[in-house]
Amino acid sequence: MRRKMRRATPSVLVFTMKIAIFGGSFDPVHAEHVNIVKAAQAALSPDKIIVMPAFIPPHKQDRALASPEDRLNMAKLAFAGVKNCEVSAYEINAGGTSYTYLTLGYLAGKFPGAQLYFLVGADMLKDFYTWKQPETILSLADLVVCNREGDKVSYPAEQFRFFSKFKKRFIGIEYTGRDISSTKARVLTAFGEDLKPYLPFDVIDYIEANELYRIEGVKGALRYLKPSRRKHTLGVALTAARYAERYKIPEKSAVLAAAMHDVAKNMQADAPELSGFATEEKVPAPVLHQYTGAYVAEHTFGIRDEDVLNAVRYHTSGRPNMSDLEKLIFLSDMLEPSRDFKGVEKLRRLLAEDLNECMYQSLKHELRHLKKSGGEIYPLTFRAYEYYKGLRK
Ligand code: FE
Ligand code: FE
Repeated sequence: MRRKMRRATPSVLVFTMKIAIFGGSFDPVHAEHVNIVKAAQAALSPDKIIVMPAFIPPHKQDRALASPEDRLNMAKLAFAGVKNCEVSAYEINAGGTSYTYLTLGYLAGKFPGAQLYFLVGADMLKDFYTWKQPETILSLADLVVCNREGDKVSYPAEQFRFFSKFKKRFIGIEYTGRDISSTKARVLTAFGEDLKPYLPFDVIDYIEANELYRIEGVKGALRYLKPSRRKHTLGVALTAARYAERYKIPEKSAVLAAAMHDVAKNMQADAPELSGFATEEKVPAPVLHQYTGAYVAEHTFGIRDEDVLNAVRYHTSGRPNMSDLEKLIFLSDMLEPSRDFKGVEKLRRLLAEDLNECMYQSLKHELRHLKKSGGEIYPLTFRAYEYYKGLRK
């Protein structure tokens, strides 16, 4: 029997190519970046996903820690096995500040008629209003938002705010990413912690082979710490690194100071590292290790950065007129995740908002605690309290 020939229909089928774009600093790329792309793939079924490492991210100019080439190479390794996914060097080759509206304009020109989707983490959604030309971005692409543990946003509430401002809705993806950040990955690398739960294996190998994110002195300082203090110290470094960018503090200084802050806590007075150390005044025992710590940081580890040394030197007592790094280390020490006392959550919220107010409230809490427990009040702590109280007027 002859098969009936099917005649081609004269009508034109319009095929719209769907392209999802995922930008970021990828410093380094981590497991959740890959998972977000996979979630977008499942939700949008795009024909192509373009991962676009930024040259200099506009909001992060003071702290890109790996070179553009290394970030590009790591992204290529991480996304190598992901279907329809390519890593673009466009922004890195373009150089200068990488603005999303310009990149999307370029892609719209390169793929005429394509439907573009721009992927962001929920934490970025909060910042989106401050980006350059958000209206242009939204005229070129649909914004696709993926939630993340810790930053989880309520889609309906954000949708309302978004629509009132832009008269457009974003697309929310149901997948919720784990609370991993590149900042955390950098700190864990500097501390020599296990990266396997957080980064693709090939990226870990690349970081090790190229010695990325290493901070001279950090691992050496950790050798002086017992496991429990090491855990506390890591908490201080993660907290300090998390807020370093917010307060324009160099992340490396924050992590180094955090690693050093308790280095002398368990040292005997006759330890060789402390030979030559002396104080002019009588210092209460719980405070003394800030001075011995700064001494070891300087003499054993050769740290010359006065700001880092002072952050160690005043991390327990505080003092009037501290630098932002000193405040950050003082507060991270008091508020890191394993600390648990009444009012700690309120102080943690303040740390994200206002260093001076957080200093005032933390010192007030400290003095009250010392009075209650009959601890000795070191005069410098009281002076610090008076100073930060005075700033409020
Ligand atoms: Fe301490
Ligand atoms: Fe400490």
